[in-house]
Formats: sequence, C-alpha cells, structure tokens
Amino acid sequence: MNILTDLVHAGQWDEDPTGTSSLPIFRGSTFSQENPLSNVRWDYGRSGNPTRAGLEETIAKLEGGVAGYAFASGIAAVNSVLMMFQTGDHVVVGEDIYGGSFRSLTTIFARWGLGVSWVDASDLEQVEKAVRPETKAILVETPSNPLLRVCDLRGIAAIAHRHGVLAMIDNTFQTPLLQRPLELGFHVSIHSATKFLGGHSDVVAGVVAVSDAAVGKRLYTVQNGFGAILGPDDSWMVLRGIRTLAVRLETQQRTAIRLADWLAARQEVSAVHFPGLKSHPAHELHASQTTGPGAVLSFDLGTEAAALSFLQAVKIPLTAVSLGGVETILSWPCRMSHASMPRQERLKRGIGDGLIRLSAGLEAAEDLEADFAQALST
Ligand code: PLP
Repeated sequence: MNILTDLVHAGQWDEDPTGTSSLPIFRGSTFSQENPLSNVRWDYGRSGNPTRAGLEETIAKLEGGVAGYAFASGIAAVNSVLMMFQTGDHVVVGEDIYGGSFRSLTTIFARWGLGVSWVDASDLEQVEKAVRPETKAILVETPSNPLLRVCDLRGIAAIAHRHGVLAMIDNTFQTPLLQRPLELGFHVSIHSATKFLGGHSDVVAGVVAVSDAAVGKRLYTVQNGFGAILGPDDSWMVLRGIRTLAVRLETQQRTAIRLADWLAARQEVSAVHFPGLKSHPAHELHASQTTGPGAVLSFDLGTEAAALSFLQAVKIPLTAVSLGGVETILSWPCRMSHASMPRQERLKRGIGDGLIRLSAGLEAAEDLEADFAQALST
C-alpha cells in the first residue's frame, strides 16, 4: 500500500463491531478476565490498550517495521530505548542530537554507567573508529537538530551490521512520510510524536518502530516494566494527527523551501542550514535517502542581540520550544532546546547565540516573508 493510504487507514480497530470511522478511546485501566485461566489479548492498561495499540501498529506500518511502541513523550521514548542497555555497555552517538537526549545521556545514563562516544556522525570513519567491543548501538539524527547536518543512513547501518550493534535514529524531523530508516537497515526509529505526527501543538507523545522482533521484545519489557506509556486519549490525538500528515507536511515543506531561499538572499542572515538548498554540503546525500528536505531549517543572525530583536519583532510565528505544528514556530536553540548544554560545548558544536530554528507552518508563505522582512529591518 502507498504510505498515503496507510496514513489514513492504518491502526483502525479490526475487532470493532460497530464499523466506526474512528478508533474508540478505551479509557478502562483494566479488562475483565472472566476465565482467569485463558489467555486474553487485553489484561491491564499499562501492558496494552486497544487505542494505544492502534497507534503502535500505525507507526510500525508507516516505518516498515515489525512492531511499534508509544510512550508518554518523545524523551520518554528515547530514554526507554536507552534503557534496553546496561551498566558497562557503550553507545556511539551523533554529537548534534536533540539537547534533551544529550542531557539524558550525560546525566541519567552517565550515572547508570552507560558509556558514550560523541562523534560527528557525518564522518563514517569517525563513527566506525568509535565502536568498541562493549558498544551496543549507534544513535544518530539526520537532519540533525538544530544545524540540519546530514549523515549517511546506509553507511551507518552498514557499520552497525558489520559490528553486530543496533543502528538507531531519532527520525522526528523527517517523519516516516519522508524518511524510512528501517528500510535502509536501521533497527530502531524514534519519534517525538509531539511534533509533525501529532501536528497541532496540542499533545506530548513519543513513538518507536523496530525492524527486529527480538529488539521489540526488549523494548516492550522496558515499556511495560518502566511504564512510561502513552495514555489512550493522547494516543487517539496522535492517530488523528497522523491521518493528515501528508497534506500538512507537503505544504509546510513547500513553505520551508521558499523561506530558505528568501532568507539566504538577505544580507542580515549569515547562514541558512537546510538540506533542500543546493548549497547544503550534503544536499545530494540527503536526497538519496529521503523523499524531501522537510519543513525545518535554521538560520544565523550572527549575534544574540540580533536574534533577540528579530524574535521580539516577528508577529505571526510562535516563538516557542517545539516544531512540527500547524503554526510556524521559531526557537532559539541557545536559550531553549540547547540551554542545558554548556555554552562552550554548544559553540564547539556550531550552535551560536544568533542561531534561530524555524519550523514552517501552514500560514501563507508571503505573509511570513513580509513579517520576516519587517522584523529584520526593526
Ligand atoms: N527528539 C527531537 C528531535 C526533538 O526535537 C524533541 C523535542 O523537541 C524530542 C526528541 C523530545 O520530544 P518530547 O518533547 O516529545 O519529549
């Protein structure tokens, strides 16, 4: 089935006797076990819930995986994946991953004794050199947050397979509509469903798809045992969002392409990071592993003062921590998503004080351009 069809129809409940057009929200925390000796599909709401299962089946199908899991947030999904490992294990991680994942690895999982080697994931030699005997996984994001750097998914998967470790990606920015890493050899694909999947800035959720049943079993042990599950109402919200993902993301992507060109032509802007631009160093690599550049870009205004003045002057976008909503969202990585990263570390990674991340919404592109023009000349 074409993914456009799956986006609309996946995850609906085939046990439903009513023929309803929308998977019901099952709020019950437990399920009757009339005959306690028989095996039942549903027994307890943490272990499994039909509405959550609809979402879990959907993400598995969209990613081309064998199973899916839904969590209370994107970071709960990241952390639950990392909880598959144990003290003494080691992971190789792309250095420009989401700031919250960086925080988890350098605080919670550092205390656990999970070793991490930070690498420039766009340099395959560096990635492979970082793999040790105790390495269990390689974790990357592409395009990365907030500099939209691109790494070679097929290359990373090949390294992981060569060394018998898991290839894992945070696929939030691209969504399965544009990028399906499991089909390129990855074992685990993680999403903050708070972003494009939910799509309306009104739900916090995380989902994971896996390509390997044994990995799925390990992740289910964490999901059920640690319990950071997504509730039925929020599962329904994400399922509803997913059904319109294609129309939203295609429009948002078109606007992002237009704004990237517009910003690149402005003298106030010292750099635009967007894999859709031909000037992006990995423009072709990105195109070879996705079906579009996505709807997120970042641009540099050079200084903290210039970024602050711009953010205070714009009228249409929401200035906020997040992306992927119907409204254009601007965020300031140094004060928001990457505020937990020490400044020197942040600067070393190229995330300057004047950098602004933009997630294109569904407003008219010409209105956004006019608003940006007035904000840049304020
Ligand atoms: N991964 C990425 C790439 C993100 O941008 C975010 C949030 O901004 C997360 C994970 C965490 O997701 P959540 O905020 O849903 O916990």
